[in-house]
Amino acid sequence: MDTLLVFDVDGTLTGPRRRMHEDFARFFKSVCQNYQVFLVSGSDMPKLEEQLPKDIIGLVAGIFTCSGNEMLVDGQAVYRMEHLFPDDLTGFLANFVDASRYPVRTGNHIEARTGTLNVSVVGRNADPKQRMAYFTRDKENGERQKMIGDIMERFPDYEANVGGQISVDVTPRGWNKSRVFQELSQRYPGRKIAFFGDNMHTGGNDRPLGDAVKNGSSDNKVFPVEDHYDTWKILQEQYSQSPKSQSQVA
Ligand SMILES: [Mg+2]
Repeated sequence: MDTLLVFDVDGTLTGPRRRMHEDFARFFKSVCQNYQVFLVSGSDMPKLEEQLPKDIIGLVAGIFTCSGNEMLVDGQAVYRMEHLFPDDLTGFLANFVDASRYPVRTGNHIEARTGTLNVSVVGRNADPKQRMAYFTRDKENGERQKMIGDIMERFPDYEANVGGQISVDVTPRGWNKSRVFQELSQRYPGRKIAFFGDNMHTGGNDRPLGDAVKNGSSDNKVFPVEDHYDTWKILQEQYSQSPKSQSQVA
């Protein structure tokens, strides 16, 4: 039985908020033809469509958007977990954004997605240069880790994880990418899973799924990658040949 290949999108299959590299897309298409591939994104479908070519979106076996709170197969929603966030939490997040000493604000600071609030001090309208500048500063002063600590302390029913380069994802406790593992192991019992993600460190939004996959079976594999070039290389070395098993229609 062959392996289900599961990929984070931003930073794992593409550069941050960039379109997929054309040569990589060509190669990745063949991977999608040889394996059952699943995508797991913190973003929603419109953002995913900006980053990935249509034919790849058409070839994959399933897409989990909004950190696994939504699953789509062949463009149809299989499930969608909605949540109404309390006003004191959204107010707290807005205050955190306002109070930050970071000098640049680009707009679109709190974005509601299915089951998730995505919060960014610099704002989601930041261009690549502004993103990189925030990302660098955040590494030095740990602003996002501070935000995460504050959220979890004041709102114990919620959890927060670092998402991408500039934001933090807030969800009800337990509503994180690890849900993808539950879903896949129910739908495809006994299948091996390999998961690729660029945010696998403590507090990273790929970590909960990485841990769940690792703990699920010693045959599973987790690949913390540096960037999409790293993913490309690992796929070439380990997953470029193997044919789909007969069980693929399971
Ligand atoms: Mg990522």
